[in-house]
Amino acid sequence: MSQPRRAESNSGSGAGVRDRFGDGGLNLKPSGRMHVPESLEPGSPGRPVGEIAVADPIFSCRDVSVFYGDKQALKSVTIDIARRQVLAAIGPSGCGKSTFLRCLNRMNDTIPGARVTGAITMDGQDIYSRRQDVAQLRARIGMVFQKPNPFPKSIYDNVAYGPRIHRLTRSRADLDELVFTSLQRAGLWSEVKDRLGSLALGLSGGQQQRLCIARTLAVQPEVILMDEPCSALDPIATAHIEDLIEQLRASYAIVIVTHSMQQAARVSQRTAYFYMGQLIEVGDTDRVFTNPQHRLTEDYITGRFG
Ligand code: ADP
Repeated sequence: MSQPRRAESNSGSGAGVRDRFGDGGLNLKPSGRMHVPESLEPGSPGRPVGEIAVADPIFSCRDVSVFYGDKQALKSVTIDIARRQVLAAIGPSGCGKSTFLRCLNRMNDTIPGARVTGAITMDGQDIYSRRQDVAQLRARIGMVFQKPNPFPKSIYDNVAYGPRIHRLTRSRADLDELVFTSLQRAGLWSEVKDRLGSLALGLSGGQQQRLCIARTLAVQPEVILMDEPCSALDPIATAHIEDLIEQLRASYAIVIVTHSMQQAARVSQRTAYFYMGQLIEVGDTDRVFTNPQHRLTEDYITGRFG
């Protein structure tokens, strides 16, 4: 099994070490292309085809498997996740997309009987290490779910909830400012600015989902995980969320699970195709959709399957 990369493995070795980004020897050539060690060679046994590695990834997942009791739902998934980019996870229902997403913020820990093996690092640190503070990890990784799930509180209190718990602000004025910027970044401010004290449950479905995104942004995460965030929304609300994703990717790494290939093509720069718990192919979204390298990917995107 690959070992987790550790930030300290890169430190103190003199000039030029920043070009080297991993124990596995993933070196950047001057051209920016990568040398990939044999164990990560796409298409080798247990490896997806395509481009597994990225330069300076925020997450590196190596041989990640998930078991629910005896049943293996994710099989030895190896992939890097880039900063300031959207990765779309696609594939037929039940292929392990959500399970994969939940590995990244250790949400599978909350499922009785679930077990995760392999290695996942965030910024070079093993997130499954015993030293990892899980609450702190989840504050760095926001999550948006299929169905908008605002708290039965006011619009203001929904957004202020995380900053209050994590004590991110010192004064009411700071909190007001954070609520304002979060709602603005989520594209909701102009629609709710005159009714911040109203119950969030009175908003439309699309507005509720943007409120949930604002609530996530208020905690100032580095990564946003989205599990089919538009599946309960109408086309106009969906377009709003997709526009928002496009804006947010300037600042965040985003991983989105979607059952819609059109949505994956619209919002993502990289696409990962899962099938029966395995990551089959990963790469540049345009390339995966126009020139898939694996027959299973081709079957799926051409509609022959799924
Ligand atoms: P997808 O997101 O691609 O639809 P999931 O990750 O939800 O797939 O599910 C992958 C497999 O794991 C499925 O067979 C599903 O039934 C199973 N599974 C998902 N969640 C649980 C759970 N909490 N307990 C047991 N099995 C689960």
